[in-house]
Amino acid sequence: MGTLLLDGVSKRYGEATAVARVDLDIRQGELVALLGPSGCGKTTTLRMVAGFIEPTAGRVVIGGRDVTRLPPHSRDTGMVFQSYALFPHMSVADNVGFGLEMRKVGRAERDRRIAEALRLVRLDALSDRLPRQLSGGQQQRVALARALVVSPAVFLLDEPLSNLDAKLRAEVGLEIRDLQKRLGLTTLMVTHDQDEALAMADRLVVMEHGRVLQVGSAEDLYERPANTFVAGFVGRCNLLAGTREGTDVFRLASGAAVPCAPDATARGGMLAIRPERIEVAPDPAGAGRLKALTYLGARTEYHLELAGEAIVAVTPTPLPDDPRRRLAAGDPVRITWVPDAARVIPLD
Ligand code: ATP
Repeated sequence: MGTLLLDGVSKRYGEATAVARVDLDIRQGELVALLGPSGCGKTTTLRMVAGFIEPTAGRVVIGGRDVTRLPPHSRDTGMVFQSYALFPHMSVADNVGFGLEMRKVGRAERDRRIAEALRLVRLDALSDRLPRQLSGGQQQRVALARALVVSPAVFLLDEPLSNLDAKLRAEVGLEIRDLQKRLGLTTLMVTHDQDEALAMADRLVVMEHGRVLQVGSAEDLYERPANTFVAGFVGRCNLLAGTREGTDVFRLASGAAVPCAPDATARGGMLAIRPERIEVAPDPAGAGRLKALTYLGARTEYHLELAGEAIVAVTPTPLPDDPRRRLAAGDPVRITWVPDAARVIPLD
């Protein structure tokens, strides 16, 4: 069974802690993304699962078997590297078959599995090419096929889309997700790109300074961030300091009162409001002010000020006859949101 368990996995380099007691339980067929800023410990965690780095403490368990002390080739994992790491002098087919050859799989069986893997990534027509005769996206698919061909229990992806341009990234991301779902591959992926993680993963793990801050679905993290770091890292977020008063009123530092979601947990802290949940309307008596406006085609972004706080709002660009289309920097505006759009988050 392709389950993956990380049990208190840590890595220290001298005094420095790269990964601190990470616990994670990945189900068969699930895609989990490790997400976080540069240096947060994502790659180190992935490499401890692959076996390239030995943990200082904790256990890595694949399919119920403790593999913590096993070398990479004995772990039943397939890894796709950020750089693809293809052999430049070998054909596509030979690159894909490399792992099988290492495992002493016979010629006929090898050819059958190479052809199957190349069909899965839609590269069957290019099997005789060399890597340099392929586009970036095609090289990426060779790397995928090479990892898939050994039917690993756990599939590991290190920033799989980072070498592709923006358009291709979305396309290949969906392709990988589709393949992963169809084959029911248990997958751990590393990325620093939140859109990529949100689009592809069943669950996301947000890390900072080697620690796991929150684990959850895209919706959990976006709608119910556990702290201000997660709120600010997963999507954009306005964070306003102040204190909750009563059930659904939040008093900003400036003294102004604004609506917030009635949730009994945090009293003091930060009010978190997503830019797309904020309504902006021209209003000569409005308490807010438009400082700048950016027209982005499909969307328009409003940089606002309310009671001394800077707030960003984003809306689908209004139709040409909408009064909001006549807004200009300096105009007074009414800034509103429904209480449920604003959650109080305790300070970290
Ligand atoms: P990036 O997105 O930039 O790849 P990351 O989240 O993958 O970052 P890691 O590469 O896992 O981060 O590194 C985590 C921390 O461990 C960093 O502070 C890094 O400097 C440190 N580190 C990694 N490898 C070593 C090493 N061999 N010796 C000492 N420190 C290391």
